[in-house]
Amino acid sequence: MKKSLLVLMAFSFGFAILANAQDKKPPTMKPEATEFYTPVPPKISPGAENNLPPSDAIVLFDGTNLDAFVSARDGESAAEWMIENGELVVQRGKGDIQSKMAFGDAQYHVEWSAPTEIVGEGQGRGNSGFFLMGMYEVQILDSYESKTYTNGQAGSIYKQFPPLVNPLRAPGEWNYYDIIFKAPRFDANGMVTSPATVTVLINGVLVQNNVILRGPTEYIGIPNYRAHEDKLPIKLQDHGNPVRFRNIWVRPL
Ligand code: MG
Repeated sequence: MKKSLLVLMAFSFGFAILANAQDKKPPTMKPEATEFYTPVPPKISPGAENNLPPSDAIVLFDGTNLDAFVSARDGESAAEWMIENGELVVQRGKGDIQSKMAFGDAQYHVEWSAPTEIVGEGQGRGNSGFFLMGMYEVQILDSYESKTYTNGQAGSIYKQFPPLVNPLRAPGEWNYYDIIFKAPRFDANGMVTSPATVTVLINGVLVQNNVILRGPTEYIGIPNYRAHEDKLPIKLQDHGNPVRFRNIWVRPL
């Protein structure tokens, strides 16, 4: 048989298969087959303004009292930071404070303002911190016009991930952090089965896009996960600077 004839036969055969396949229409599926009605997402009310707590939020600080917090030194005694004009002010030397309630997966909102009296540089200027589960720090720092290592500036996951951009407002103005946190999971042997992830927006601008944490925040050395409870208190840092806070709320997920 001639080679050209073989090619022609092969081509025709292939075409026949293709034509046959096109004859068979896919099984009919109705639009309703991919629509579902339960479970119904709970109806909640958003805050009157975008930064105000929605109806299902747990308010940790609304300007009136520190009832939701204790000293992080012993997890029991009163938190000794000051409330001035409805704002929570870090008191140098009084130590970190932590929430009485413990949280795992959650959405947080926290607002902070750097001291208007500029003191120090780098990590010494307007430093505080929002510690997820008391150990994973989203950095709070006056890095508006002060240089420091990038993975230590405001909005960094301290010593792990620098923020994507620097959308800070000037000292004395309010910065809004919105944080979405997924807690790490551990197996019975204490091995990580699923690391923690964090998304952070500063003033509505994405600065951490679902980053995968390498472990708890370490000032020195490489982070390493250590198995811990499913839920733990959040911690606010006393780094010796009078950073101010307001409007702190959380939505456990
Ligand atoms: Mg800090």
